[in-house]
Amino acid sequence: MPESDRTETVPAGEGSKLQAALKQMAAAIGAESVHARGAQLDRVARATIPDPKKPAALVTPKDSADVVQVVRIASQYGVALWPVSQGRNWGYGSATACHDNAVVLHLGRLNQILEVNEELAYAVIEPGVTYRQLRTFLELHHPDLWCDCTDGPPDGSVIGNALDRGLGVTHYADHFGTLCGLEVVLPTGDVIRTGGGPPDCQTWHTHKWGVGPHTEGLFSQSNLGIVTRAGVWLIRKPEAFASFTFDLARVADLPRLVDTVRELALRGVLQSACHVVNDVVALCVLTQYPGDLLDRHSRLPDDVLRDLCRRYGVAPWSLGGGIQGTAATVREVKRQLRRALASLGRLTFLDDRSVGLISRLNQWSARSAAGRSVARWVAGAAGKSPEMLQAAPHIHSVLKGIPSDYFVRHAYFKSRLPKPELADPDRDDCGLVWFAPIAPMTGRHVSELLRLCEPLFEQHRFDFYAALLMQNARSMIVLMSIFFLKDDPEQVLRAKRLYEELCRATTADGYQQYRIGVGGMDQLIASTPEFVSFARTLKAAVDPSKILAPGKYGIR
Ligand code: ADP
Repeated sequence: MPESDRTETVPAGEGSKLQAALKQMAAAIGAESVHARGAQLDRVARATIPDPKKPAALVTPKDSADVVQVVRIASQYGVALWPVSQGRNWGYGSATACHDNAVVLHLGRLNQILEVNEELAYAVIEPGVTYRQLRTFLELHHPDLWCDCTDGPPDGSVIGNALDRGLGVTHYADHFGTLCGLEVVLPTGDVIRTGGGPPDCQTWHTHKWGVGPHTEGLFSQSNLGIVTRAGVWLIRKPEAFASFTFDLARVADLPRLVDTVRELALRGVLQSACHVVNDVVALCVLTQYPGDLLDRHSRLPDDVLRDLCRRYGVAPWSLGGGIQGTAATVREVKRQLRRALASLGRLTFLDDRSVGLISRLNQWSARSAAGRSVARWVAGAAGKSPEMLQAAPHIHSVLKGIPSDYFVRHAYFKSRLPKPELADPDRDDCGLVWFAPIAPMTGRHVSELLRLCEPLFEQHRFDFYAALLMQNARSMIVLMSIFFLKDDPEQVLRAKRLYEELCRATTADGYQQYRIGVGGMDQLIASTPEFVSFARTLKAAVDPSKILAPGKYGIR
């Protein structure tokens, strides 16, 4: 990194400047909204990544007027703010900044669902609104509408995830793509609406491009503004829905599977964001790392991995996705999937009726030995393990956009704690960092990326966790996770080295990341100097005091 980048890093206000700014913020928005110490500040200082940066303070405005005041005071004192909506950006840094001493601006209290438009299927929400909150609200008041979610934290923010361009699970999985019409507080304290005029524009939440230069993108993966409200498109509840899972029989057929998924997507047969996961991902969902091996092996020995896969009935790669539409459409898509995939492995379909029966069987199995033996028999007849039968209803419902705590628990794969009912990997010191490069969706490209990365995991002795997420019909995110023990300094160091090497190796081969954690943001500077210089010109114009998330995505 050039020397100028290092010296330019703007820390948040330190010492007396910071104290004076916090005092003024407390006077302006209330002392109860400014935390220079205490449990709430400790909470946002925790993250699953190695060595998270320490925040200096936490500010929790109650509305957008408070946000404007905080921004104006920060600008006056030159104090750096790090905005988060819910701060559940697990594996990418949670609520922590990319530098020490940030003032975390937590927007969780701005949690109003301001409008739901039934006719046009959109909602207008504030940044503190979570997936769980929005879905519950829709189920109660607008049952004809669904929202998308991720298979991550149900209490993550709908707007926060979208601004970091997170990916969901339904055909509305492109979360930033389905945001429409933003209200933004600029680093000067001015407030704008994206999309251009006229005032009270009728199409603010229906016409994403607005008129004139498209500015909405400037506020995602960036540090040019704080989004205080947004329109989010909702899904009209389909007449019929089914989910499918598919177990690939032979590892060597993975490129064929990727090409098949692409063709099905390009022809419009597959519309939801299908996920293809490897054996380690499936094991993380179904079980935990054997406790007796935790301190002896940072990577599952080959024979243990093989045994676990056999025990839990896990295939080398499995695919899952949702199908929605009219009953006739769902029937036809099932037929096309059978035709395309039957020769490559085993395909299973689920609908609400079969999931209801499985759920009842699972409940019976939890209550009695007779239930357990029937569940074992049923699972065996379907070529599955009883644990997979337990997972099936969760998979089916998350593919309908219903958020679930079930999948977040997989972050506890390498935890010394058992998987808790309410997962919080930050609280429980789980060691986890995402690395998420993206490839053109061809079997050739995806295999090349896997071939580049897998040996590095082996070399650094970590399990190779890889999930292939269909981002659109042409691109596939190759999401990898490094699971490490946070209480083992040597493992933490190795996890950091592996992350750096993955960044270097993939960048050298022309693969970019679809989203970057706070620990890896500076690599953007090294690899694309012209782009960064352009972004810095914008930054200098919009944020002359450099107070908003300096260094985020490499932009200062
Ligand atoms: P989630 O809780 O959904 O995981 P976060 O609040 O952790 O989302 O935010 C994810 C990323 O998006 C972070 O980099 C954060 O700085 C940015 N971000 C979140 N909310 C806002 C917002 N309202 N305005 C600007 N940036 C935001």
